[in-house]
Amino acid sequence: MSSSSTDRPPASLSSCLQLIRPEIRELSAYHVPDASGYIKLDAMENPYGINAELSAALQEQLATAQLNRYPDPSAEALRNSLRSCMQVPADREIILGNGSDELIQMLAMAVASDDACLMSFEPGFVMYSMISRFCGLQYVGVPLDADFEIDMQATRDAIMQHQPAVIFIAFPNNPSANCFNVEHIEEIIAMAPGLVVLDEAYHPFAQASFMHRLEQHDNLLVMRTVSKLGLAGLRLGYLCGHADIIHEIDKLRLPYNINVLTQHAALFMLNNMDVLDAQAEEIREQRSGLYQALCAMEQLQVYPSDANFILFRLLEHDAGEVFESIRQQGVLIKNMKATTGPLKNCLRVTVGMPGENQAFLNALGQALQ
Ligand SMILES: *Cc1c(COP(=O)(O)O)cnc(C)c1O
Repeated sequence: MSSSSTDRPPASLSSCLQLIRPEIRELSAYHVPDASGYIKLDAMENPYGINAELSAALQEQLATAQLNRYPDPSAEALRNSLRSCMQVPADREIILGNGSDELIQMLAMAVASDDACLMSFEPGFVMYSMISRFCGLQYVGVPLDADFEIDMQATRDAIMQHQPAVIFIAFPNNPSANCFNVEHIEEIIAMAPGLVVLDEAYHPFAQASFMHRLEQHDNLLVMRTVSKLGLAGLRLGYLCGHADIIHEIDKLRLPYNINVLTQHAALFMLNNMDVLDAQAEEIREQRSGLYQALCAMEQLQVYPSDANFILFRLLEHDAGEVFESIRQQGVLIKNMKATTGPLKNCLRVTVGMPGENQAFLNALGQALQ
């Protein structure tokens, strides 16, 4: 018998589960549907990939990665490359995350306290509210108006009432695909009692950015990711802002959060930015063709897009049935599953390659018969 043993039986499974915070037990795990075999237009990925020649050069570069060593903890070369490729203002600092999701988490952890609140807009990107919950932060989602624009009176009231530590603004917004009115955002930055993060995940497809406004506002942060640009598999996001703020956030970053392979591959791709830029341009062109084709269908209400996806509402059909019919025809898009509110009966499709978009349009046409 061990000297430290007591009469107490070992912890039961159920008592262990009781230790998990109730707000976590209530959650269901983030579900990603199995897409194998489908034309995949559900997750805002860039469909193109890289050609054989570039791929061979990338392999060669990756072969030099030392997998037995820890990565450069601050990923300095990659940060410098991002700085110049993405025109980060010289007097602003940059920090990297394992996807921008990790940066959202670092920001939330940095401000989490009993009375702190994180604010964003609804419908919006689900990770803001999920990560708030993970970190024990209060989350306030201010409803957008029926055209998915910021309701300024509601926003002013919510800021006054809740004094949010951080406000996240997705620009363009997901799932509505629009860029909010810039004057509204400027007013929010000016009246916010804390940080305002412009989440520019869809920057490659929008013609607008707050990057060049960083120097005008100490409380403004600009967050981006290489995911929608064509490198979703790398998991790399970056956050830019005042050095004093970035240095505080950096204390929460787990050491070596950007692995060796990601550092090498991202550096290589940033040195070939022209390839990714050309793909983004092609996607923007495809977007306008897809948008026009959808607008020509009378049974739909289609929302304009500044991103690489399009949101549309079924006016006569049930969105769930149309989604299912499209899926059975081999094309996977996203069912917003809303029965009320501004996303009611809406579906969301990612812009793909020409043949993929045509396959989607054919399947949708079939589903609407
Ligand atoms: C996709 C998306 C992200 C997530 O980016 P990752 O870098 O892949 O984690 C962040 N914000 C918005 C609005 C997105 O749509």
